[in-house]
Amino acid sequence: MSVTIFSHPSCMQHQVTEVHPEEPARLSAINDQIIRSGLELALTQRDGHPASKEQLNRAHDASYVDEIFAKAPTEGHIWLDPDTLMTEGSLQAALYAAGCGIDAVNEAMQGANPRSFCVVRPPGHHATEKKAMGFCIFNNIAVAAHHAMACYALERIAIIDFDVHHGNGTESIFLNDQRVLLCSSFQHPFYPHTGASTTQPHIINCPMPAGTSGSEWQAEVKQRWLPALHRFKPQLILVSAGFDGHSEDDMGQFNLRETDYFWIAEQLKGLAEQHCEGRVVGMLEGGYDHSSLGRSVVAFIKGLL
Ligand SMILES: [Zn+2]
Repeated sequence: MSVTIFSHPSCMQHQVTEVHPEEPARLSAINDQIIRSGLELALTQRDGHPASKEQLNRAHDASYVDEIFAKAPTEGHIWLDPDTLMTEGSLQAALYAAGCGIDAVNEAMQGANPRSFCVVRPPGHHATEKKAMGFCIFNNIAVAAHHAMACYALERIAIIDFDVHHGNGTESIFLNDQRVLLCSSFQHPFYPHTGASTTQPHIINCPMPAGTSGSEWQAEVKQRWLPALHRFKPQLILVSAGFDGHSEDDMGQFNLRETDYFWIAEQLKGLAEQHCEGRVVGMLEGGYDHSSLGRSVVAFIKGLL
């Protein structure tokens, strides 16, 4: 069984001319490490399609999507929030980032490979129904989940988010939607200062302190996520795969390593084989230290293989 990699050259055209930690070189680092590792031979690489407004509007307010299209600059840049900017190529990058998730869901539901990973940017999990924030314009994972529910009538989708930051946007979009089981671990207290007091039973948040080790994180996953995931019996597993919790990534202060990302991918693959014919779709979120980002993505994909 292979893993399909979805990406698109447009994802490199966002913020090309501005200095920003969420930069095109992140994707180059991932692609270089995939080639260096020899993993390329075990993967199927595909270009994704752009998401349509109709697809985006399932997760976002239509007025917000219209606003992003209207604001997209043809030169220079604009700021959507203090962290999130748009340059000339940003709208196309954001459309392809969300669209790759839709293609990956289609591939999982009807293609040859139930497992895929989307090497995309901008990331998505901080974007709410009507607000860009934290480097995110459209909520890629939420758009993918809504596509799966709308086009394949799925009623139980698990979203796993192990980025070091809480995925406040994903939580807000599915806060009252029990078709989604959202399992999230994040450094707390930390940006965006949400998630620690969420009480909905379909949202399993694991706020953890700075300095959290891989073994502490794995113990929490075993105790809180895995039993809930087995009870939920997901029909599809989506992963907001952020690698900024790596010990070498100074965007956060977790001490995760490649072995932890390999381990979670193996756990999710096993769950998916048991409950949903192996369907796992990973989407890149954070990860800003290029070396550890490349190695961590490779470790995660190896865990899916
Ligand atoms: Zn992050």
